Amino acid sequence: MSANTAIKLAVIGRGLIGAAAARHLSKLGHQVALIGPDEPASFARHGGVFASHYDEGRITRRFDSETFWRQANCAAIARYGEISAESGVEFYREVGCLHVGAKESSDATATGKIAAEADIHCEVYDDADLAERFPYLGSTAGMRGHFEPRHAGYISPRRLVRAQTIAAERAGAEIIDEPARAISETGSGVTIRTRSGDVAAERVLVAAGGHTQSLLGRSLGFKVYARTAALFRLGAAEVQRLDGMPSMRCFGPKGDNPYILPPIVYPDGQSWLKLGGDPVDVALESEADIKDWFRSGGSAQVADRLQTQILARIRDLKFEERRVVPCMTTFGESGLPLIGPLSERVTVATGCYGKSAKCSDELGRLGAMVLLGEVQPELAP
Ligand SMILES: Cc1cc2nc3c(=O)[nH]c(=O)nc-3n(C[C@H](O)[C@H](O)[C@H](O)COP(=O)(O)OP(=O)(O)OC[C@H]3O[C@@H](n4cnc5c(N)ncnc54)[C@H](O)[C@@H]3O)c2cc1C
Repeated sequence: MSANTAIKLAVIGRGLIGAAAARHLSKLGHQVALIGPDEPASFARHGGVFASHYDEGRITRRFDSETFWRQANCAAIARYGEISAESGVEFYREVGCLHVGAKESSDATATGKIAAEADIHCEVYDDADLAERFPYLGSTAGMRGHFEPRHAGYISPRRLVRAQTIAAERAGAEIIDEPARAISETGSGVTIRTRSGDVAAERVLVAAGGHTQSLLGRSLGFKVYARTAALFRLGAAEVQRLDGMPSMRCFGPKGDNPYILPPIVYPDGQSWLKLGGDPVDVALESEADIKDWFRSGGSAQVADRLQTQILARIRDLKFEERRVVPCMTTFGESGLPLIGPLSERVTVATGCYGKSAKCSDELGRLGAMVLLGEVQPELAP
């Protein structure tokens, strides 16, 4: 793009989707301001906004039961190498993803059927074969595992945000490390108010995760829910025993469908095994609810339930410490993200569903293209 066709754009939200959008827009030659704060140093003392990416492990895989998400996953995963090369930040480990549940369950049957139809290569293991291939699993009698060995594993969402931000900056984006307080639109442009001054742009993409609706001051039909993850610190012997463990999606009875991340080294230098999967949805109805939830540190009750799950699913697991971590997710009625214009100058890109980290580069790219008016806003509100 030549300089005289460059558009002055702003992206609000330096999370997974916003930082991705900023990278794509900057690489197209536009003048981009990426507005959003860093991770809070202390949740308990933080008075500002929160996000869903303050972690080191998110499952990635091409498989999804819905076509849109499968395509987005494939498109994004194919660009992981490009993002690392542009930023110098590694964020992906291809350890594979195991989808595991009772052989006769509808989840296990559907996984096999959809993977075959979508041409996603899976190795299939039953009972004793499952135990032999993944010897640290708990009981495997009557169980089936579909293992996606390629283009699957985990990403660090923190490192991915950092990578996208660096790549966007290297392509010319300006990073404004502050929350947006308000957006106002006139006939000639958009003004975004921040503590240190106003940012003027011709158009703005709002990708503020769980805070998107309150920042816009309107409902987009999405609900924000509290989520708790439990992390278990492992000693060297356990890390060695679980060497090669993939990411896991478990289908169980009575709504116990935890997801498990293999041991990952966290910023404290220790290896932590993580799992999540809240049994009930607790809605966060307001900004105050979101802030109170993060400051609360998460639910010990949910973590107790998750602890029971991990002890049942990983044979003889010995852990040295447990940590309880709060997070938030958003769900809309369509099951799809919301990527489309709200007005001539304001576009939105949001929708978490607990699964949009892996494909955030594609969701950000779609948001960028809609902002430029270059793709049909099929996912518009
Ligand atoms: C517990 C949990 C587990 C998950 N596991 C997986 C998984 O295994 N695999 C997977 O693919 N996905 C997973 N997800 C989903 C994934 O993390 C989210 O879908 C993803 O983070 C959403 O990206 P986002 O950019 O929309 O939001 P976020 O990553 O939350 O980013 C939003 C950004 O907006 C910023 N912001 C908010 N308000 C303002 C404002 N006023 N001004 C400026 N900036 C603002 C925030 O600071 C934040 O940086 C999980 C989510 C949770 C909660």
